[in-house]
This record gives sequence, structure tokens and C-alpha cells, in this order.
Amino acid sequence: MTNEDFRKSAHKMVDWMADYMENIESFPVKSQVKPGEIKSKLPNRPSQQGEDMDTIFNDFKKIILPGITHWQHPSFHAYFPGNSSKPSVLAEMLTATLGVQAMIWNTSPAAAELEEQVMEWFKTMMDLPKEWTGSIQNGASDATLNAILTAREKISGFTTNQVGITHNKLRVYCSEQAHSSVDKAMAIAGLGKNNLVKISVDNAFALKEEALELAIQQDLEEGFTPLMVVAAIGTTGSTAIDPLEKIAKITQKHNLWLHVDAALAGTALILPEMRWMANGLSKGDSLVFNPHKWMFTNFDASVYFVKDKVALINTFSESPEYLKTKEDNEVTNYRDWGVPLGRRFRALKLWFVIRSFGVEKLQEKIRLHLEFSQDFKSWIEKSAQFRLMAPVDLNTICFRYLNTNKTKEEINLINKQLLEQINSSGKAYLTHTKLNDWFTLRLVIGQTNVAEKHINQVKALISNLIKNSNLN
Ligand SMILES: *Cc1c(COP(=O)(O)O)cnc(C)c1O
Repeated sequence: MTNEDFRKSAHKMVDWMADYMENIESFPVKSQVKPGEIKSKLPNRPSQQGEDMDTIFNDFKKIILPGITHWQHPSFHAYFPGNSSKPSVLAEMLTATLGVQAMIWNTSPAAAELEEQVMEWFKTMMDLPKEWTGSIQNGASDATLNAILTAREKISGFTTNQVGITHNKLRVYCSEQAHSSVDKAMAIAGLGKNNLVKISVDNAFALKEEALELAIQQDLEEGFTPLMVVAAIGTTGSTAIDPLEKIAKITQKHNLWLHVDAALAGTALILPEMRWMANGLSKGDSLVFNPHKWMFTNFDASVYFVKDKVALINTFSESPEYLKTKEDNEVTNYRDWGVPLGRRFRALKLWFVIRSFGVEKLQEKIRLHLEFSQDFKSWIEKSAQFRLMAPVDLNTICFRYLNTNKTKEEINLINKQLLEQINSSGKAYLTHTKLNDWFTLRLVIGQTNVAEKHINQVKALISNLIKNSNLN
């Protein structure tokens, strides 16, 4: 491709990108294709001769786009948002153009030093413990694995990496509502999923601290070695908030690592009025949250803060001859901060987003999402047709359609059908969870451009479906 061709195609694609952003609401939120439909339109073999960009781009529009679920549609209320924004997109274009592999300081000093500085900004923005250190990880799952591996290495006096696991009775604790990434990390770290102790939750789906204390006591009596507690600020099911301060008392008493998973909800810590969720954090050891969920930065950008930076680096540092540089003692080499060696230059998009919005605008948007969530919650509570299924402290409303004449199984089925009808309308996209065995609809309000009208639209959509359907 010549530079002239690149310039032409790039301008055309940027125009398409701007049009897409402008017209995104004309697409069905959730892709409506059937399994196999997209693949059947793709050739079995790669092209032997190069094709021109116009042909490729046309196929993108014709074949790929129908199979896209539009995460940036303001009526995307499913899962948790994976949101983006214009400054983030612009930064990603530059990142791809520079094509930097930011494994060590030497391979691009700006990537390392910008990451260091942006991590300091986060500490200020979110009032995190001053002595903690941050780094960008791929995702919250990686950060949780990172925390478990570091704790595992530390408890063994930094011998496990060398000799393998000799401590075979290490135990980790989290609530029944914790994310499956904790189970996965137990498996990968060689600690075994059976050694992940799931602690029961209260009516608000938050971890019961008395049950945690009991479980630890019992494990100690049975000869296990308690290692870590993973507390959640904002569980994935219902955004439950574990009582961090009380959990921290327990982890301090037993000298356990306290890792805090705030994948979605961490963003809300930029609001002073939401910082109660993190009370006790300074007594903990690590925190992860994903700007790629709710902070208008496109995937992937997960931020991991840790108290004991030395333990972290001792766990992951490998220094083969070909990666040694004369600056090693003066600079941050992020290859030592996690599993992968290679790293994308992800600090750039965070820098663009934070500067372009400014902290105040970020706060304003998050506050707005919280207000919309309270509004939707009241709508559910006021209606005799619905039942609210969990407290709404953040941006996720868990509810179900009520039908008093039916059995639990029948009501679950009706709610499942309601969800399918919402999603196949193309007008909004919600997902579900199970709470106390009830099929529960989850409506998440965190898309970058979600406005009041989209909340009104989804209310009208749900009401109309119920009115006009045979769900009764
Ligand atoms: C989304 C989520 C995760 C997983 O995040 P990834 O970045 O996709 O690995 C972990 N924990 C919680 C609470 C989450 O909501």
C-alpha cells in the first residue's frame, strides 16, 4: 500500500467512523445473525494476490457489520459496558500507527513514563493510598491472577517460582457472588479451585464477614494456610459491595493478602460521594478496576494497584541477557509487572481520555449514570408489575417481571421470554443473572452516550412488550 493510498483509505474510514458514531442508533443493538451466518460468507482460503482496500472495506460493511453487536449504542444495557469515546479512538489510531511494543523502558521511554504518570493521576482522581503503585494490565482477570501469584510467591518466602508449590494447602476466600476470574486464577496458579472458599452473602448479596471469619478459623483448625481474600466492590451479578472495612480487619488479624476487585465500580471512586465503598482499602494489598468498562476508554485497559511493589516485581521479574539495559536501575520495566512480556502502549488512550474529558466531565457523566439508575430503580419499585431483586448503589438494576398466579419455574420462563423479546427487538440489549434462583433481568446504565431519552425508550419498550404479548 502506498502512502497516498493509505491517506485516501484512512480519510474515507475516518469519515465512516464519524458517520457510524452519528448513526449508531439506526443499528439493532444486538447482532441479529444466526450461528455460522458470518463464517459462511467468508472465503475458505486467503487471497493469494493482494486486494485493494476499497474491496476489503466494502466487505467489512457488507459481511462483518451485520455480525457486530453495537457496544457503543446508547441502548446497550447488557453485561457491563465496554465503552469507548472519541478521544480514546483517536489515541488508538496513533497507538496502532506507532506500533510500539512497550515491554521495557528502553523500547519506548514515553510509554513507560506516561504509564507511570497516568497511574499517579488515578491515585489522585480516586483518592487511592499514596504509597501504592499502579500498572496497566490486560484485564481484571489478569490482575487477579497477578495478585494471587504474588501472594503465593510472598508467603513462600519467594521460593515457589524456583522450586514449585510446596505449600499445598493454600486457601483463598471470596463471596459466592465473586467473579469467575477468581476460580480461573486458582486453577492457573496451581492452587486448585477446591481451595477457593466461597463465603455466603447477605440479603444485599454482599459477603458476610462473620462467615468469612468462621471459614478462616475452620481452615486453620484443619491445617490449611489462609492466603488471600478477594473482596468485590460491585459484583458482576448485581453490583453488590462487600464490606471492605470489616473484611480488612479480618485480613489484618490473620495477615492475609486483601485483593479488591472493583472491575466495573472502580470508576465510581472518582466521585467523592462514592468513596465509602473503598473505606478500608488502605489496609488491603491490591485493587483492580477497568477503565475499559465504565471510563470511556476502549478495550483493553485495566488498572492494577498494589501496595508491595517489590513483591510484585520479585514475582514476575525475568532478566535474560538480551533484555538487560544500562538504565535498568533507574527506570520502570513493565515486563516485570505481570505475565506477558510484550505490552501495548495503552497509557496513551487513558491520557487522551482523562485530558479530553477532564476530571469534572468524567465525574459529571458517572453521576448522571447513577441518577438514571436511581430513576429506573424507582420506576421498577413503583410498578406493581415488577420486583426489584437487589439494591441499586451503582449503575445496575436487577429486576424481574412479576406474575403472582404462576410457579417459580413458569415465572422464570416468562422472564426469559421477555428478555429474548427485548433483545430481538434490536432496540435495547439487556442480559440476565440468577439471584436466589430467580431468573433476573439486569439493566446496566454506563454507555458513554446514554441519555435520559434512552432510559425512557427502554421503559416504553418493556411496558409495550408486556402489554402486547402473551407473557401472562
Ligand atoms: C468484568 C469483571 C471481571 C473480568 O474483567 P476482565 O477485564 O474481562 O478480565 C472481573 N471481576 C468483575 C467483578 C467484573 O465485573
